[in-house]
Amino acid sequence: MGPPRPDFTNDPALRSWVPVDEGSPFPVQNLPFGVFRHRRRVRAGVAIGDYVLDLARLQEDGLLGGIPLPRRAFDRDSLNGFLALGRPVWRAVRQRLCELLTESRWRPRVEPALLGMSEVELLLPVRPGDYVDFYASLYHASNMGRILRPQQDPLPPNWRWLPIGYHGRSATVVVSGTPVVRPRGQVSTPDGPVLTPTLMLDFELEVGFVTGPGNALGRPIPVEEAWDHIFGLLLVNDWSARDIQAWEYVPLGPFLGKSFATSVSPWLVTLEALAPFLVPLAPQEPAPLPHLADPEPLTYDVRLEVALVVGGREQVVSRTSLRHLYWSLAQMLAHATSNGALTRPGDLWATGTVSGPEPGSYGCLMELTWRGQRPLALGDGLQRSFLEDGDTVVMRGWCEGQGAVCIGLGEVRGTVLPAV
Ligand code: CA
Repeated sequence: MGPPRPDFTNDPALRSWVPVDEGSPFPVQNLPFGVFRHRRRVRAGVAIGDYVLDLARLQEDGLLGGIPLPRRAFDRDSLNGFLALGRPVWRAVRQRLCELLTESRWRPRVEPALLGMSEVELLLPVRPGDYVDFYASLYHASNMGRILRPQQDPLPPNWRWLPIGYHGRSATVVVSGTPVVRPRGQVSTPDGPVLTPTLMLDFELEVGFVTGPGNALGRPIPVEEAWDHIFGLLLVNDWSARDIQAWEYVPLGPFLGKSFATSVSPWLVTLEALAPFLVPLAPQEPAPLPHLADPEPLTYDVRLEVALVVGGREQVVSRTSLRHLYWSLAQMLAHATSNGALTRPGDLWATGTVSGPEPGSYGCLMELTWRGQRPLALGDGLQRSFLEDGDTVVMRGWCEGQGAVCIGLGEVRGTVLPAV
């Protein structure tokens, strides 16, 4: 019930026998899960410092015994099967890994399963059967309303009653580093619609969460149980073609302006690792209906930033935090299943653009440049209203706090290629 609370695996005093640089995003208190290719074999692992621990090898070598795992649970091309097992198993594996990596007596047996991060190719951690994108930041939704519908109330009348979302395209969820081809689409002009490469290519800074075991068809996940289904978080760049989106989105919502690419970071950071960074959500007014009333309205203080790399120069253009969400992750999952819709292990859900209250904390160019009216100055006379070919977008996330060890989400990166 509720999000996991800290246990011995979060102790800041823990040290691994694996060398971990000060300030690494992946100390032994983190242990994020991912999928990698090494010498043509694809397996699951966890990150520690500059290493990947091969979980398939650990299980083969009998080091995960006593945990109710299927045979070759990690000798797979996704974590979907592991996600189906649920929190007691997720937690047991994490606690075992913590022991194996901190107690030096295990070093001789565990060390053969360590691979250098630079020796492996990181792949998508899950095969999302379904992908949903929400719209859960009050600041983002308010800004978009002011930009798109300046004569009206910026928030639609349903916004404070339910976490608005739409179904995205899971097939075009790609791992960090995958280039993004500028999409073509229909755009409205004074002379009528034309087919053109988008002229308003944007990023959206979001956090995703993946779920398992999920529900049975026709059975909603109650909000008070929803946290139990959330495995962990990753970074999401929901690339957006604003001109295509503007022409197509009424009345059924985003479609081709979004479905050409969604980039995610390769490491899933568990809610267990994030437990020291729980913070309350801002009060919700009006109170949600009972089926969305989260008894623990919490989020995580995940610091987020976006950098643009233009002409070889990197510049941070936004800094914000996941604490600025209005809706909790549990409320999003409860809402999405409140009609009995099925979720399956490995499904991906994204929060929607995470914007904060200040202009420097807005999570997309649409807001940062106010629909291109105020281009961003990037130094050397360079400026951007929207993304140009060759630009690289880098999003980073991490948690830090007094007395706590820094827990990193790593980064999600993508470069824009010209339209074909
Ligand atoms: Ca979005």
